[in-house]
Amino acid sequence: MYTSFYIHWPFCPYRCSYCPFTALAGQDELMPTYHTALCNELLLWKQDKKYELETLYFGGGTPSTYPENLMLDMSAILSTVCSFNDECEITIEVNPGTLSASHSETWQKIGINRISLGVQSLNSQTLTLLNRLHTYDDVKNALALLVGKFKSISIDLMIGLPGVSCLEWEKTLKEVCSWPIQHISIYLLTIHKCTPLYFQLKQKNIKLPSTEETIRMFLCTQSYLQANGFEQYEISNFAKPGHRSRHNLKYWSHKPYLGFGLGACSFDGVTRSENTSSFTHYCSAIEQNSKPYESQEILSEEQILTEKIMLSLRLNTGLHLQQFNLSGTSINPAIKEFVDTLLHEQLVVCPTQDIVVLTPGGMLLENEIATRFCMLFLKKI
Ligand code: SF4
Repeated sequence: MYTSFYIHWPFCPYRCSYCPFTALAGQDELMPTYHTALCNELLLWKQDKKYELETLYFGGGTPSTYPENLMLDMSAILSTVCSFNDECEITIEVNPGTLSASHSETWQKIGINRISLGVQSLNSQTLTLLNRLHTYDDVKNALALLVGKFKSISIDLMIGLPGVSCLEWEKTLKEVCSWPIQHISIYLLTIHKCTPLYFQLKQKNIKLPSTEETIRMFLCTQSYLQANGFEQYEISNFAKPGHRSRHNLKYWSHKPYLGFGLGACSFDGVTRSENTSSFTHYCSAIEQNSKPYESQEILSEEQILTEKIMLSLRLNTGLHLQQFNLSGTSINPAIKEFVDTLLHEQLVVCPTQDIVVLTPGGMLLENEIATRFCMLFLKKI
């Protein structure tokens, strides 16, 4: 059943000023213990017939800090638990400030073929404000080292950063489109309570772009990237043909996956399990040969339907109305009426009668539109 694995590496050299996650920053001495627990967690899932993976993802944290000897060891353990489909997509998230030629060679050796580079911004001052480890030059050096060695290179950028004007954002887009990369993820900066950035904002040391400016940047991103060959296949993700993230598409299509490591989630199609995010509890559960779950939730039909609606509206393949029509008969007139209103307001297009796809304007209201569809399908309005 499982064709996708996620492996979590929670270590980071420093904590980013916007980070709300349980990252282990500056605690490298714990790496060998964690690695052993991670390998043993994988072995807990070993079965007679190996899993045949279509995607494998090393996420974090900063998995590019995974020591090379331990990474080779992890690869050996993985090969006892799973085999890799010929087309298997194997991704690692990389901080440009942690990279060396030797890392790149090790990753190639173990079959990694996709790099997700955490660029975030091209502005040195902004990178310092975000407490990112890397500089603009590190990004350029990383690209020089990685290009041509891996099938796909993706970069992460952040939109809505303090002090970044629309003009500067346009310059960023222009520059990244000139790079030999195949995929771009754009995330909106979220200010989480009790992060250093939150306090800076509270003390008025920094100023975020206005909502109007952020919307303008988002709309400009869509048109600029599309014009430069990047298809917006998910609200935050743009890819050249053949370079969509197949791993993330599994999440967005509600497919099963297994997650390993601190705080990692797994999903079997009905039950979502979440590992503990306490380092001590994680290691001791594994030592006792038990799965390190913190919680397990069996999703109700209603939750599954809601999640599927929310996720499919984020994709450019859209919402297939008939798929969510629980009564199995013709589409409810109230849903038809809602679709007509959305069409009239140019918030959606319908490539066929049964499929609804958000327009750029509709994406800005994705949450509201998805919520309304959920209520209509569940007959709550
Ligand atoms: S790289 Fe990610 S997990 Fe690590 S400190 Fe930064 S935001 Fe947090």
